[in-house]
Amino acid sequence: MTTLITTQDIARIVAARGLPEVLRLMVDAIEADFRRWPEFDKSPRLASHSPAGVIELMPVADGAHYSFKYVNGHPRNTALGLPTVMAFGMLADVATGIPQVLSELTLTTAIRTAATSVMAAKLLARPQARTMALIGNGAQSEFQALAFHHLLGITTLRLFDTDPAATAKLLRHLRGVRGLRLVACASTDQALRGADIVTTITADKRNATIVTPDMVEPGMHINGVGGDCPGKTELHPGVLAAAEVFVEYEPQSRVEGDVQQMPADFPVTELWRVLTGQAPGRRDAAEVTVFDSVGFALEDFSALRLVAGLAHQAGLGQKIDLIPALDDPKDLYSALAVGAAPQLRVA
Ligand code: NAD
Repeated sequence: MTTLITTQDIARIVAARGLPEVLRLMVDAIEADFRRWPEFDKSPRLASHSPAGVIELMPVADGAHYSFKYVNGHPRNTALGLPTVMAFGMLADVATGIPQVLSELTLTTAIRTAATSVMAAKLLARPQARTMALIGNGAQSEFQALAFHHLLGITTLRLFDTDPAATAKLLRHLRGVRGLRLVACASTDQALRGADIVTTITADKRNATIVTPDMVEPGMHINGVGGDCPGKTELHPGVLAAAEVFVEYEPQSRVEGDVQQMPADFPVTELWRVLTGQAPGRRDAAEVTVFDSVGFALEDFSALRLVAGLAHQAGLGQKIDLIPALDDPKDLYSALAVGAAPQLRVA
């Protein structure tokens, strides 16, 4: 039988453990998998573009598990009362192909994206970073804010969104968090002043220039999360040209990341190489670093395995008969009898 993990299951896991602990476990899970990078069968995600957005499939596998995520990105959805990003995914057994877990991944993507941002910032931001500008205060923003506060020691957040209602929502959700100072700003320029870390997590299907070279201060770490599709970027090319740029998986990031604006030989470093000591991260306090995040399938592989384990420990998840159970594996036809498909028996 396949285990179904719903959004309510994720909400129960977070309620029981607390979001900081789930974020911490997610950082550990993603880091552990990035450290064994060469073991994975990797490919850039498969994207289907339309004028309104994109729908993507993200597969990856190691010797034991295969996973894929379905995810969309439709920046104009919020005007229709729908989220910009929605996702679900599956974890399967490589030896037999049995689909083991079918899970919601909308909430889980927000958690894994924030965890990946923290993983990168641990390697690239100055250790004494305490102030972060957070540009784009939509669905992902609380997760980024809380991850950087609890796991990286950020104590001041400078917020800006072109939609004041989004910032008001973020302020409402974060107001009670102890030790976190919140400053609503009137522009991106104002929000970036004095920031050690800059997280851009806006949604707009165009080559936007959220951050321009004149806004960048020595030593800043830029966590660019919202530029994740061809024709959808956030950083002015001059910002990238003056920085050390780090990516998840180069073949995908060259097409989807902010680096799509740069020449094909523009130098980028894959994060796993920094994690494993094969490449340097930040070299000095004045260097400007950019994590050009697009979201890579391996992060969802790690996330699926983590939430499957946490759901199992908590007695959550519902068994569903996604695959027919057959007394004779060559007799699929008999499974057409109504009420005849009980469980797939796994030896
Ligand atoms: P959302 O639509 O809920 O929020 C986006 C916010 O950006 C909105 O509040 C909007 O008003 C604001 N915005 C748009 N243009 C702006 C501008 N010029 N200046 C300031 N604010 C602006 O979307 P979301 O779910 O929070 O996702 C945000 C972005 O992150 C999307 O582009 C999404 O594709 C991307 N994303 C990336 C990853 C990754 O792994 N890299 C994962 C998830 C989402």
